[in-house]
Amino acid sequence: LGPVPPAEGASPAMAQWFAAKAQHPDALLFFRMGDFFELFFADAEAASEALGLALSFRGEHRGQRVPMCGVPAHAHEAHLARLIRRGFRVAVCEQMETPEEAKKRKASTLRREVVRLVTPGTVTEDALLEAARPAWLLALAPGEGGAVGAAWLDVSTGAFETESLPAAADLPGLLARLEPAELLAPPDLAAVLPALAGERATEAVPPRDAPGLVAAAYGVATLDGFGAYTAAEVSAAAMALDYVRTTQRGGPEALAHLSRPMPRGTKGVLQMDAATRRSLEILRSERGDTRDCLLGAVDRTLTAAGGRELASRLACPLAEAGPVLARHDAVAALLASAPLRTAVRDALRGAPDMARALGRLSLDRFAPRDLAAIRDGLGRAAAGAAALEAAGPALPPLLREAAAALRPEPDPAPELGRALVETLPARLDDPGLVAAGYDGQLDGLRRLRDDARGAIAAMQLDLAQAWGVASLKVRHHQQFGYLAEVPAAAGEKLLREAPKGAAGPLAPVHRQTMANGHRFTCAALADLDRKLAEAGDAAAKRERQIARHLRGLCLGAAAGIGGAAAALAEVDVHAAAAALAAEGGWCRPEIVEDRPDFAVTAGRHPVVAAALARAGTKAGGGAFVPNDCDLSPGRRVCLLTGPNMAGKSTFLRQNALVAVLAQTGMFAPAESARLGLVDRLFSRVGAADDIAGGRSTFMVEMAETAAILNQAGPRSLVVLDEVGRGTATWDGLAVAWAVLEALHDRLRCRTIFATHFHELTALAGRLPELSLSTMRVREWRGQVVFLHSVGAGAAERSWGLHVARLAGVPKAVLARAGAVLEALEERARGLEPLSEELPLLSRAAAPAVEPEPEEVSEGRHHPALEALAVLDPDALSPREAQEALYRLRSML
Ligand code: ADP
Repeated sequence: LGPVPPAEGASPAMAQWFAAKAQHPDALLFFRMGDFFELFFADAEAASEALGLALSFRGEHRGQRVPMCGVPAHAHEAHLARLIRRGFRVAVCEQMETPEEAKKRKASTLRREVVRLVTPGTVTEDALLEAARPAWLLALAPGEGGAVGAAWLDVSTGAFETESLPAAADLPGLLARLEPAELLAPPDLAAVLPALAGERATEAVPPRDAPGLVAAAYGVATLDGFGAYTAAEVSAAAMALDYVRTTQRGGPEALAHLSRPMPRGTKGVLQMDAATRRSLEILRSERGDTRDCLLGAVDRTLTAAGGRELASRLACPLAEAGPVLARHDAVAALLASAPLRTAVRDALRGAPDMARALGRLSLDRFAPRDLAAIRDGLGRAAAGAAALEAAGPALPPLLREAAAALRPEPDPAPELGRALVETLPARLDDPGLVAAGYDGQLDGLRRLRDDARGAIAAMQLDLAQAWGVASLKVRHHQQFGYLAEVPAAAGEKLLREAPKGAAGPLAPVHRQTMANGHRFTCAALADLDRKLAEAGDAAAKRERQIARHLRGLCLGAAAGIGGAAAALAEVDVHAAAAALAAEGGWCRPEIVEDRPDFAVTAGRHPVVAAALARAGTKAGGGAFVPNDCDLSPGRRVCLLTGPNMAGKSTFLRQNALVAVLAQTGMFAPAESARLGLVDRLFSRVGAADDIAGGRSTFMVEMAETAAILNQAGPRSLVVLDEVGRGTATWDGLAVAWAVLEALHDRLRCRTIFATHFHELTALAGRLPELSLSTMRVREWRGQVVFLHSVGAGAAERSWGLHVARLAGVPKAVLARAGAVLEALEERARGLEPLSEELPLLSRAAAPAVEPEPEEVSEGRHHPALEALAVLDPDALSPREAQEALYRLRSML
């Protein structure tokens, strides 16, 4: 934002502007003037450009014209939304009194105050929010020994959680999981945040007495009863609370609807780093869209809150059998009974967003539709509860608990139902919110108003007779109230004949001359008009009182309403999972606790299968070919070969996704799936370029491989595509070889390892738990046909040439390539002896290896072995790896 000129010499209203602007120099100032929010100076220039609004000028300040642009107050939300999306912050400066009040104070201008700072992470209006995504405000605080405390809250729903990260290196994973709308971090942490936090990051530091601040926000003396937090988590929570309080209208009510921060901890949660999330395209595709991602393909929820809950669950699958099984039980019950599922889903369909409506009610920023959302949402909740309860005692515990929560106590719905009309006015200032029969006083005022209205209508006839003007019409006029209109000629006659001085109640009093007529009133009409206006004002005032009473009613029941909203979202998620399973023939995953099994039969990739189905209806394209995968003990590592485009990455991802879906509590896109719970999931499939980070493909690939080798364990699942592809053949092969051995022998994790290094298949038989699989390909009339099915064995080497032929590479070049291939294969025969001679990693005396007792061998002291033993593949540059490989070869 551009510079602000000095304030000296400003008019009284502009002096207020300067004062407010000085408080919020980095925000656009929306300055309320009557029916408009106006922006001035550089703010006006920035906003007019961002919103495409005309820039005008308003008077002068210190000899310069003042640039100005404005948005109508009744439509300011849409403009706010666009500015927030463009990365602006907006300070809203409101008029705090009516002109009458200012006049009484003898003030020259209305009192104005900044009531709110609108930032991406603290908005509550539906227009500014994505309905089906949480809007997290994430705060980070440094902890001891490099740890980081994280706290995130959603102002729109009141959700609030914390977690402690062991190191700043874990931040990208958290950012990828939460996709925060806004981030608060102290300068030193902000510096290490990757580019992806970008402009959503705001610098902030933990407040001095963090525990005291958090305790005060919840009106308790100590946080002991809340849960176990680290000091850094409390600091981060305090930062978030502090920020919400300064951006909202201050005071305790801004924080009243936030739930207590829940320490999440990393226990019981499936760990996935940022690269894995990106590669699996969980919440968005690698291109960034939200349709061709896992969430987009599996989301069958019917409510916004259900959509948010599903997104949060997929971003954070569980790793504990108990809760996973409970969710599976819920889905199974809803899958087993189609009538139950249909009844539940019919009850939920289109249910309004109670959590966000409650948030706005509690921040006192509500519209009539928010009261209606609670009324209608609780109605749907009760219908959902009834549908569930009809299933009887067989209902699994999660659904039973949800059914109970769907009927909150106290239940404000009946009173809201009596109080509110069916179709509500848009704004609280509009009349007609309260239903007839709810409030005697309001009914009385409305009767008065209606009587006056009727009397006025009747008066048209009386006046027409009294004044002798048959065409007289009584009409309402914005400025003057009710007036009698008569045509020009009749009007002039009345004017001439009008008695001067005291006159009867029906005597015409001239008010206005128009082009084609005159407007008159009379004492009786003016009297009725005043009565009508008074009754209208009194009714409006009474309606506002009632709206505040209803707000209080909802806030008094806030805990129950919040619980019902959460239960509704939960039931929606389970019923949606059941609908998805019914529609796609998905199976209930069998969770085994004591063995790291992984056996999937007829597995599918939900996103690719859906895309093929969509294309198929148009172009008769092929259907998805289901594939089996078994990584159970005894065959933990699967080495997958096959040409490009044969379906390798799809197979890798689909198996990783089976784990994600199953541990989210959903069913699996397969005929059967047996799964020992995965503690950490690593996926390296697809583009690894980190152009923004300025690292080469190979460097990124190696960094990510290093992360796996340093973290994976016997309960982890690793799917790796083409390790070593980013560099020259030999060092690529050397690295791939060493990595494969390490995964098999040292980390002992379930692994699918896709490679184009045919040489690695020589390791089969040497590594006892390695199984070979290949994407089956056929040649048919000189064409390569990808069967997309996974079979045992290794790929033939020469498919590359077939693909080249298919792509139209000229015959002569193909023939030459064939000859070169033959020569290379001749040379490469030396590699099989290499696999014979190179001892297995577990048998070499590598310092990092903890061989299991039965695997300790007598050890053959070949010089190449000793040289290999001291090699650290993670620490080698590609060139060094290549040199090392040559050196090893020469020692044989
Ligand atoms: P690779 O990783 O071997 O290059 P991909 O996994 O990217 O191959 O698959 C290439 C294309 O083949 C996909 O875009 C998809 O359309 C199709 N495909 C992959 N797997 C299957 C399958 N199991 N059934 C049908 N089509 C598939």
